[in-house]
Amino acid sequence: GSKSAALMTEECVCVAVRVRPLLAREVLNRHQVCVRVVPGSAQVMLGSDRLFSFDHAFGPTASQDEVFESCVRPLVQSCVQGFNATVFCYGQTGSGKTFTLGGGQQDEDGGIIDRVVQEVFRLLQEKKKNNEGLDTRVRVSYVELYREELRDLLEIQNIHKELHIREDERGNTVVVGVKEMVVTSTEELFDIVETGNALRHTGPTAMNEHSSRSHTILTLHIDICCRGSSSTPTNYSQSSKLCLVDLAGSERSGKTGNTGTRLKESAHINTGLLALGNVIRALTDSRSRRGTNTYIPYRDAKITRLLRDSLGGTAHTLMVACVSPSHHYVAETLNVLQFASRAR
Ligand code: ADP
Ligand code: MG
Repeated sequence: GSKSAALMTEECVCVAVRVRPLLAREVLNRHQVCVRVVPGSAQVMLGSDRLFSFDHAFGPTASQDEVFESCVRPLVQSCVQGFNATVFCYGQTGSGKTFTLGGGQQDEDGGIIDRVVQEVFRLLQEKKKNNEGLDTRVRVSYVELYREELRDLLEIQNIHKELHIREDERGNTVVVGVKEMVVTSTEELFDIVETGNALRHTGPTAMNEHSSRSHTILTLHIDICCRGSSSTPTNYSQSSKLCLVDLAGSERSGKTGNTGTRLKESAHINTGLLALGNVIRALTDSRSRRGTNTYIPYRDAKITRLLRDSLGGTAHTLMVACVSPSHHYVAETLNVLQFASRAR
């Protein structure tokens, strides 16, 4: 209760941790569980003595629905009310970021994207039912940031064209020439996501290799226009956006044979994740020292420039830090838990 209320008002960065279950092959290989959610709390214990606190903590049996209901639904509501919002999944490759975000499934396995889209359409329908003078529209764009280059995943002809980020006179972030498609149903949106995913640069590496090195950003623009009617005689229009971000893997560079291009990629990714961490920390600091003007270093990387109008200010941000429970990844998990607990 209090958490979602807080999310709506001043707590701009909400941090959740999700610990995935051990995978079948990890069980076969006798991986040990080294991360546990403290029952009935939002705390996570790493090993036997390191405790971390968050706004929400989800263990290996938590459902996709639980994640959505407790931390994403309030964000969608505020978005339909006209505020911008961002959800991003952070964590090492294989920790469950893409699983948590989903995209293209309507059953119980459907992730955040799937549930968000359904909820957006439901809320807009509801709004329209109560006001016949309302026009609503949902536009979607889907881009990928790879080695600090921004590409349009919906532009089949121009996938190699680089996109540029600008700021308009009202402080909105604009991606010049990005393709935006109007969607009227969940199915249409799923088709778009699927097409976009197929376009992701695969090159000589496998899809998973690539996805571990790039960020993808799916943006829903929600436009509401009120022409004025007998029930609501006001004229207004609002446009807000909800960014759903699958970040590159947080694992450190220089690990196994990271040389040449690979090393360069890692450097770029770390720039982005580092910049994102710095922006979030600055936002959290400025909230705790209200009144003082804190400098927010948005310009340090493309990812933070792109999300500028959807992070901080009146926007609401949810970070879902994903971790594996396996003792094999304890070092990476420690990094992620530290990063995430510093973001609050
Ligand atoms: P990432 O996107 O962080 O690299 P994935 O989302 O691809 O990781 O997850 C890695 C593997 O773990 C996948 O096989 C995925 O289905 C599985 N997985 C992740 N999270 C969960 C979960 N909460 N429950 C069940 N399986 C999961
Ligand atoms: Mg992934």
